[in-house]
Amino acid sequence: MKKHNFSAGPSILPQFTIEKTAEGIKDFAGSGLSVMEVSHRGKDFVAVMDEAQALFRELLNIPEDYSVLFLGGGASLQFCMIPYNLMSKKAAYLNTGAWSAKAIKEAKFFGEVVEVASSKDTVYNYIPKDFEVPADADYFHFTSNNTIYGTQIRKDFDLDIPVVCDMSSDIFSRKIDVSKYGIIYGGAQKNLAPAGVAFVIIKNDLVGKVDRAIPTMLNYQTHIDGGSMFNTPPVVPIFAALQTLKWLKANGGIEAMEKINEEKAALLYDEIDRNPVFKGTVLNKEDRSLMNVCFIMNDGYEALEKEFLEFATGKGMSAIKGHRSVGGFRASIYNAMPKSSIQALIDCMQEFEKKHA
Ligand code: PMP
Repeated sequence: MKKHNFSAGPSILPQFTIEKTAEGIKDFAGSGLSVMEVSHRGKDFVAVMDEAQALFRELLNIPEDYSVLFLGGGASLQFCMIPYNLMSKKAAYLNTGAWSAKAIKEAKFFGEVVEVASSKDTVYNYIPKDFEVPADADYFHFTSNNTIYGTQIRKDFDLDIPVVCDMSSDIFSRKIDVSKYGIIYGGAQKNLAPAGVAFVIIKNDLVGKVDRAIPTMLNYQTHIDGGSMFNTPPVVPIFAALQTLKWLKANGGIEAMEKINEEKAALLYDEIDRNPVFKGTVLNKEDRSLMNVCFIMNDGYEALEKEFLEFATGKGMSAIKGHRSVGGFRASIYNAMPKSSIQALIDCMQEFEKKHA
């Protein structure tokens, strides 16, 4: 039976990425050696790093005065590296989910955190809109896509202070204007690569402005100066990321991806809104994520939750159970998710409706 992988992360990757990575693990660049067992300073791997960085720049149209880094420690290490390197006195954070809250917790080790707005009281089911960012903050941090709650901010903020964004779960899914950001970062394990590498796009002149001493590995300057090769980088995830970047380019780049993502999400949301058995969890339609589609049983059908999970799982739908803090279901439909898998889920929902509505 075909499996349809709706996992929130690590999650579905293009078959191209998986096959090319498997090939490279067996025989890297015709060397007769695995990409896992050669020096990261050898010319073959240096070429991988250079091409991955160049494709990041090309696909996202990254200005010259930014660096692209591939670092260990996941997005979670960035929660502390950002304030370590950027916060002199205070920073502004928008609290739209558990990942924002974790970033806030780390920032508090380094100075004052102004939480400009929060949707925590309603289990983060909307994106706060009316808030002011203090002009004297060292930077403003937000999470563009809230993986757990299925909300998304699809706009670039225009501020006079540096904007820092966690794009772990929507990088490369939609157009962005990188020049409006100081730092864009995230874990790679959704739209890019297997877990083990975080990407950081950083404006070079942001670093070196705080007075505190920063340990070498946590200092962005170290990695900017080292071309992301100060120490041994996570070579296999970077090799896999390069394959995904090639796949993205061959499939029309970000613009094409955004269009398909809008179509895919609309298919599923339309079914959730039409089908009397289910309802969406996000309060306002404009806040709905194109990457993580969250829904629960509609009023009167609550008792059927377990039955639908078993029914859909039996038809090959993998990992559609919602996060424990939201309940219900979450279909993560990242770039690599084909329309046919979304259609398979919709077919399941319609079949279930016929049985019960
Ligand atoms: N931010 C967001 C939006 C996420 O979805 C996740 C992981 N699911 C993280 C941060 C944490 O990433 P990591 O596990 O790479 O530290």
